[in-house]
Amino acid sequence: MKQLVLIKYGEIILKGLNRPFFEDALVKNIKAALPKDFKGTVHRAQATIYVEPENPDTIDDIIRRLTKVFGITSLTRAFCLPKDLEGMQKGAAEVLAPTLSAINSFKVEAKRADKKFPMTSPEICREVGGYLHDAFPHLTVDVNNPDETVMVEVREQYAYVYCGRVKGAGGMPVGSNSKATLLLSGGIDSPVAGYMTAKRGVRLNAVHFFSYPYTGERAKDKVLTLAKLLADYNPRLDVHVVPFTEAQLAIKKHCPAEQLTIIMRRLMMRIAEEIAVKTGAKALVTGESIGQVASQTVEALGVTDAVTNIPVFRPVIGMDKEEIVTIARQIGTFETSILPYEDCCTIFTPKHPNTKPKLDRIEASEAKLDIEKLVADAVAGTEVITV
Ligand code: ATP
Ligand code: MG
Repeated sequence: MKQLVLIKYGEIILKGLNRPFFEDALVKNIKAALPKDFKGTVHRAQATIYVEPENPDTIDDIIRRLTKVFGITSLTRAFCLPKDLEGMQKGAAEVLAPTLSAINSFKVEAKRADKKFPMTSPEICREVGGYLHDAFPHLTVDVNNPDETVMVEVREQYAYVYCGRVKGAGGMPVGSNSKATLLLSGGIDSPVAGYMTAKRGVRLNAVHFFSYPYTGERAKDKVLTLAKLLADYNPRLDVHVVPFTEAQLAIKKHCPAEQLTIIMRRLMMRIAEEIAVKTGAKALVTGESIGQVASQTVEALGVTDAVTNIPVFRPVIGMDKEEIVTIARQIGTFETSILPYEDCCTIFTPKHPNTKPKLDRIEASEAKLDIEKLVADAVAGTEVITV
């Protein structure tokens, strides 16, 4: 029996959007997420995408990969049955036998996308449900809370039958909503912030500030590992690794200790913005959350934002650490984030950072630095790694 993956993408979020553009982006991302050696077809019809591999044994792997593609609301393995009552009845009993034998209650739902099909949806439900009930007499019909719902969808070519829908990643296809630059540290928060932004269809690239030799190759590898995990959701993630040591040493030498963090953050923003503009990104994304550390007080965030000319998105701004950790675990970045490698901020963090910095005082301290040159040198020394 022919099998394929049926993909639904929630028509509701399409309303008011440029629908073909959205759908094309989704199909493209689905193709990119398939195994490199995928043989088969991908096509779209009537708000459904069909992925049909030549080898049905690869379907589980394909479904697993596609659960990380934003824009998909649900996906499932479906069997292609002939479009006549007997074909649907016998076919459903045959292909669903392993599932139906293992459960106690079921119901049938039908959808008739092919309006020319001679039976109505309630008739299909009744006839297929009755047949399955006879074939598996241990089953009871439970319309409210069944162990499984058998779906029959009558479409152009076939009647598709399946049960057990897998929840998709939701959101919108990456690339359908512009581009942003993620400031990616080795911590827990920034990968989550990146995930949340990509979920809304924004294509990411990333900037990492690297303070060699204060932070070592292992710290860099950790960030690249995080970037790879994010790239499952945002294919082809460019990581711009910025040499940051010179700038940090200059700040440390010329500026008061309690201002180091905030001045460093402002410099990060300036450099990240320059890279964003160069790469066509329209916003910056950070993993900051109000009050988490001294540089994330409302005042400090204000002073930080005073240097940027493009929007700064902070998707985890209102989340507790625990909530951020829950998402980090769910997307698989947590275990890597907690690996104990030093990062550049912890090394240069003063004992008593200023939690209520004043913009004029910060600007006065920065006047002792050649900011333009520090930014230009950092950008010029940047290495781009595509994961
Ligand atoms: P995270 O917030 O990712 O858990 P963290 O808590 O160590 O890491 P903070 O010091 O809280 O990082 O920095 C706040 C935000 O600034 C980070 O979420 C990240 O967006 C950005 N950031 C910090 N350090 C770096 C870095 N070395 N490279 C790139 N971005 C950084
Ligand atoms: Mg943080």
